[in-house]
Formats: sequence, C-alpha cells, structure tokens
Amino acid sequence: MRSGQVGDSGGGKEDSGRSVGGARSGTAGICQGRAVGIDVGGGVAGSALRELGSGVRGRLLGPGDPGYDASRAVFNSMIDRRPLAVIRCADASDAVRGITFARRHHLPLSVRGGGHSVAGNAVVDGAVMLDMSGMKAVTVDSASKTVRADPGLTLGEFDRATQAFGLATTLGVVSITGIAGLTLGGGLGWLNGRYGLACDNLISAEVATADGQLLRASARDNEDLFWGIRGGGGNFGVVTSFEYQLHPVDLVLAGGLSYPMSIAPEVLRFYDDFVKAAPDELSTAASLALTPAGEPAVSIVVCYCGALDEGERVLRPLRTFQAPAHDSIQAMPYTALQSAPDEGFPSGRLHYWKSGYLRDLTDGAIETLLRFVARMPSSSSGVGLQQMHGVASRVAPSATAFPHRAEQYDFLILSQWSDAADSERNIEWTRALFEAMEPHLEDAVYVNNLGDEGPGRVRAAYGENYPRLAAVKKAYDPDNLFRANQNIAPPADMPSREDEK
Ligand SMILES: Cc1cc2nc3c(=O)[nH]c(=O)nc-3n(C[C@H](O)[C@H](O)[C@H](O)COP(=O)(O)OP(=O)(O)OC[C@H]3O[C@@H](n4cnc5c(N)ncnc54)[C@H](O)[C@@H]3O)c2cc1C
Repeated sequence: MRSGQVGDSGGGKEDSGRSVGGARSGTAGICQGRAVGIDVGGGVAGSALRELGSGVRGRLLGPGDPGYDASRAVFNSMIDRRPLAVIRCADASDAVRGITFARRHHLPLSVRGGGHSVAGNAVVDGAVMLDMSGMKAVTVDSASKTVRADPGLTLGEFDRATQAFGLATTLGVVSITGIAGLTLGGGLGWLNGRYGLACDNLISAEVATADGQLLRASARDNEDLFWGIRGGGGNFGVVTSFEYQLHPVDLVLAGGLSYPMSIAPEVLRFYDDFVKAAPDELSTAASLALTPAGEPAVSIVVCYCGALDEGERVLRPLRTFQAPAHDSIQAMPYTALQSAPDEGFPSGRLHYWKSGYLRDLTDGAIETLLRFVARMPSSSSGVGLQQMHGVASRVAPSATAFPHRAEQYDFLILSQWSDAADSERNIEWTRALFEAMEPHLEDAVYVNNLGDEGPGRVRAAYGENYPRLAAVKKAYDPDNLFRANQNIAPPADMPSREDEK
C-alpha cells in the first residue's frame, strides 16, 4: 500500500474476493475486462474512471473490487445499494477530486462517514460515493482544550483520544456511530445538559464545496456556511476536518435503573417531574424494551458529569422513590458509559425508525406507549426518550441551523430485527405506534433520526430555519450536487455565490 492510501476498515458484507492485478489495485476492478472508452454505466467512460483512479491518493473501487462491498454496506441492512464507484478518501484532495468528477459527468454523489444513518443516504445506486471512513486522524490540543478530528472517526475512537487528556465533548450515546453525520445534524448525547449539542461545540470545519474549493467555516470565515453545517446535515459540502471545543470530564456518575413494566406509569411520571428540575450536569434517557432476560421493563439511564458527591445527592430521590429491579449507577470512566449500549446494536440487523419530539410524558402518552410496547413484534426493538435540556435547550433556535431548542425528549421508536421475512410486521407496528403518538408530539423531528419520509417531514426537521438554510444552500450548492441527504432544495429565485462574484 503506498503512503496516503486508506486501509480497509472491514466489516459489513464483503465481496467474493475477485483478485485484481495492476499497479493500482483500486482502479483495476473498475476497468478490468472493459475496453477503455466503453461506457461503464451512468454514461461514464472507463477511461474517465481510470484517470480518476490514477489521481486519487486513497483508493478507487468498483463492483468486484475487494473492499467495494464493505464500503457500500451500512449499519441498516435494509439498505442494499450499488454505487458506480467508491473513492476511499485518504485526504481532502480526494473529496475535491470526487466532487469535480461527479459534477463533470453529471453523476449523483453520496458521502459516507460512519455509515450509521438509518435512512442510508450515505450510499446511492449508480453514484460516486466518497467513503470518508478511513480518515481517522485526531489531534488534541490539551492547552486550548480543542481537538481536530477527521470525518471517519467513530465516537469511540474520538472519545478514547480526548479522554487520554481527561477531556470530552458532547457526541451521541452509542460509540460505534460516526462523528460526521452526527455532528452535522446536531448531536445529542450525555453531556448535552452541561455543554450543549455536538454542533454547539464545533469551532471550525474544513469543507469541500460543490465548486471544488476547500473552505474554512468558523465564526470568522464563511459564517453562513458555518451556521448551516451546525444542524443542516451534509447539504453544503463535504466536511474533511472538524475542530471541537473540549471540556474537562473525569469519572462520571452513571448507569441504569430498571423497573418492571407493571409500575411503568408511576416510574415515567416521577421521571418526567424529576428530570425537569434536574441540574445541567445531569442528562438522562428512559426506554421501554425487553431486558436481556426477555422481561418487559422500563429503564432510566443517567449521566452526572459534575462532582461525584453532589451527583450522589442529586440522584438520591430518583434511586429511592421506588425500589428498582436493578441499579447499576456508579462512578465510571466516560468511555465505559459511551460504549455500554454497543452490543445492543450488532451489525447486520434491519432497521426502521420513527421519531419526533415529546415535551411532556402525559398520562395519554404513557398509556399509548405501554399499549403498543406490550405487542412489540421484535424482542430487539425499543422506544427511547433521550432528554434534551440545560445548555442544549437554551441556545437560541436561530443561533445554529439546529432549531429544536427546548426542554424535551427526543422520542424514538427504534425497530430492529434480523430476518427480512419479519420486515412488514415490524414496519407496520412502528408506523401504527407513531401514528398513535402523533397527537402528543411536536410538529418537529431530529434530522438524524429521519428516514425517507417526504418533504413535509424534512421541513419539520429544519423548522423555522428552513428559509435561511435554503439561502445558504443556494449560495454554496446551487445545482444541488449534495442531495443524498435530508435535502434542502436551492430556491430558483435566489443568487448563488457565482452570481454574486
Ligand atoms: C445505533 C445508533 C445510535 C445513535 N445514537 C445517537 C445519539 O445518541 N445522538 C444523536 O444525536 N444521534 C444518534 N444517532 C443518529 C446519528 O446521529 C446518525 O445516524 C448520523 O447520521 C450518524 O452519522 P454517520 O457519519 O455514522 O452516518 P453516515 O450514514 O455515514 O452519514 C449520514 C449522512 O451525513 C452526511 N455526512 C456524513 N459524513 C459527511 C461529511 N464528512 N461531510 C458532509 N456530509 C457528511 C451525509 O449526508 C450522509 O448521508 C444514532 C444512530 C445509530 C445507528
């Protein structure tokens, strides 16, 4: 492997392993057996792909190349799409090359970070796919408490690097998720009450834009782009580097409490009152699911990221109002909390999620949830209520592109199962529960939980920030090259950056 090439991250479905010859193994499969100049799909000549392959610093992969199937396999196994070509990017220049190539040949383009979006927009049939997952550099500056992080990092990889210095920032709650998609859509995790969302901690980013430039986005440079990438997803370009603010995070007081379903109404009512009065240092989530022993249970998971003795005092009422069946709350490293749920999300499962924001756990909402959970078709599924509060809820809705700033729960019906024959009944159950919950939900949804649900739901994801997002989209991506996402269409009647030059 020559310097600059990205390694194969493995995982997912792998090709049958047809070996390829040639000096550049990445390009051989793409051109193998096909005469130069013959159309290989999407109206693109093999010669053009070969030229692209000889320019990239990473690897260019086509169907039949080892690694191609690993790149196109994403977390949600419902997604089975075949890009025309995959660029396993080694650096920002590869992203720029891919962008320029897709534009020149009028090809769709998709971008993959950690591959964990359940919507599966990271991979598109017939597209040029920029697979950023091999870019994993992370550099902590402990003096300024900042970190530069590549877009292929998972949360676990990021947290391990920053925790070596006793530092962390808000990311999500499952360590195998990618930092890129998560941050660009918002990023809700255990530190949100004290330190805001992941996007609130972004200091700057390097963005490869549709016109083939590499721009710095920060409070001082391209401010409108910086505003847009903090909640507007991958609509404006390919982020090739993130810079985050970090915070001192030592041991956290964290773990779970679980109770039998028979007392779920009392538990959820107490939980709702308790967390609404909780200090910023405490972030929580509740869920309704089956225990590993197969018993239906309601669980509460907490993370207190302040002084441990104060955390003990704060949590005492929650731990004692009812005797829980299990109480695993203890002082633990932040990385232990972050990776605790990972085994509940093995690769290879099929997923269908529906989501919205819930302000209050009313009797009606609780009754609906319990009625549906009692007939959940998959023992691996669950309903989650991830609390957004404190600093994350107090940022002005227009300060970043992420608009949903309120004390509330990110309500998520997380359906997962293993056998494709069960897809229909799992999807039906998820939709029926969502419909029954709709009267209790806000007309809003977290963009990172959204599936392929139509333009109305996309609008609801961007909320009151949609018109400004559309203007930023028009400025930076007037032809909508970056459309494999929860898409913001560039309005025809607005100027682009090109028009304004
Ligand atoms: C098990 C699990 C747990 C989760 N928990 C949380 C949680 O606690 N909190 C939370 O906020 N979210 C959570 N999520 C949702 C998560 O934020 C999204 O799935 C997010 O898209 C994951 O990012 P990714 O890079 O892995 O995804 P990918 O599928 O790789 O990317 C998703 C989209 O992001 C865009 N994108 C990715 N990389 C780039 C880039 N470098 N430049 C430009 N655009 C890019 C593209 O449009 C792409 O289609 C969870 C998801 C899963 C599957």
